[in-house]
Amino acid sequence: MQRYSLAALARHALGQHRGWTPLWRKAAPRAHYKVVVIGGGGHGLATAYYLAKEHGIGDVAVLEKGAIGLGNTGRNTTIIRSNYLWDESARIYEHSLRLWEGLSAELNFNVMLSQRGVLNLAHTEGDVREGRRRVNANRLNGIDAEWLDPAAVKRFCPILNIAPPNLLSGARYPVLGATLQRRGGVARHDAVAWGYARAADARGVDIIENCEVIAIRTAGGRVSGVETSRGDIAADKVAIVAAGHNSVLAAMAGVRLPLQSHPLQALVSEPVKPVLDCVVMSNTVHVYVSQSDKGELVIGAGIDAFNSYAQRGSFPIMERQIAALLELFPSFSRLKMLRSWAGIVDVSPDASPIIGKLPVEGLYLNGGWGTGGFKATPGAGHVFAHTIAQDEPHPLARPFALERFASGALIDEHGAAAVAH
Ligand SMILES: Cc1cc2nc3c(=O)[nH]c(=O)nc-3n(C[C@H](O)[C@H](O)[C@H](O)COP(=O)(O)OP(=O)(O)OC[C@H]3O[C@@H](n4cnc5c(N)ncnc54)[C@H](O)[C@@H]3O)c2cc1C
Repeated sequence: MQRYSLAALARHALGQHRGWTPLWRKAAPRAHYKVVVIGGGGHGLATAYYLAKEHGIGDVAVLEKGAIGLGNTGRNTTIIRSNYLWDESARIYEHSLRLWEGLSAELNFNVMLSQRGVLNLAHTEGDVREGRRRVNANRLNGIDAEWLDPAAVKRFCPILNIAPPNLLSGARYPVLGATLQRRGGVARHDAVAWGYARAADARGVDIIENCEVIAIRTAGGRVSGVETSRGDIAADKVAIVAAGHNSVLAAMAGVRLPLQSHPLQALVSEPVKPVLDCVVMSNTVHVYVSQSDKGELVIGAGIDAFNSYAQRGSFPIMERQIAALLELFPSFSRLKMLRSWAGIVDVSPDASPIIGKLPVEGLYLNGGWGTGGFKATPGAGHVFAHTIAQDEPHPLARPFALERFASGALIDEHGAAAVAH
């Protein structure tokens, strides 16, 4: 792998930047792999990277039906944090955040992690109680968390409207306080996919794009390979990491998953000069927003109420999100919106992921991340690679096994999302 550094930049500048090589090879499928990973999003690529790096398994193919990173990885609002309520979630998201903190150095690729702080606003007495409880729970789990009163919120985010209700220009939902995770923030979504792809490729992983899995082969209760748009591939183990299409893929092996696929929409404004240097989320007013490095405001919505595989934005959601945004930031009222889109997220009954073995031997799933899996990319890839390599759940992944829907040991994180999904 060509290492990136200041010296390399200077050397290539002398050669007029003609000597850079592609980030990863355009691999063609081989007849057999030890592990086939279905889905070339951040999670699939991270899984392949950690399989090669941590477990010495480089005989891996990542099969992606389109180009890598154009699924939810390239469509999300890039918010990263670990301030989840329940211990199981807090541990896995914090594991991920710690990996994020060293990721650019580890991959030798700038993932543009910006730990600018994430505010979760409280607008009602119930929000305040819930926010304070979350801060306490987070601290008990060793996660940085603070409670801010309205004046402190205003100091942290001066552009936010914290006026009390019923005055001229007053807010309908006054800001009564907020939780703050200073280590939370955003990262560049494409860079995460590209960085993992480059590092996995360097360790021998084949990244095979434009290769759609159309069937999963099983024999005698064991997985034996996949059929794809580029031919059949035999495999000892098959890992499904296909986000909104996880249930479609599992069904190919006869497994019915408790997942629902919904569109999740987001939109961006025209780029403006820096106005917002933190992430602001409000469950009650129902919006989350940050400003990208390009200057666009990145605005997220809740899931569409219906099941669908259409990755499109829609006017009612845009109208609702803009109304919510203006409630918090009246000064944005003259901004123009640039574009909107959707990704297909796989939502589980308790809004927590499903990581582990499926009831077919050699078949594994990392899914159900729903609306919040971008932040989990490094951690999920790390624990999933362990689960595949050892055929045994990683301790952090164990509570997230599919069996919890039979045992009842659910991890209810419906309240953890930026908006009430
Ligand atoms: C609008 C929006 C905003 C979001 N905001 C946030 C946020 O702020 N913070 C956060 O933490 N999370 C957020 N998320 C969720 C997050 O994006 C996802 O949980 C995460 O990116 C999932 O990563 P992945 O690699 O599993 O999925 P993906 O990137 O979707 O990768 C799955 C891949 O599988 C491929 N695939 C599907 N079927 C097949 C097949 N048959 N054969 C081969 N390949 C196949 C797809 O093409 C896709 O590339 C958001 C999601 C959306 C849509």
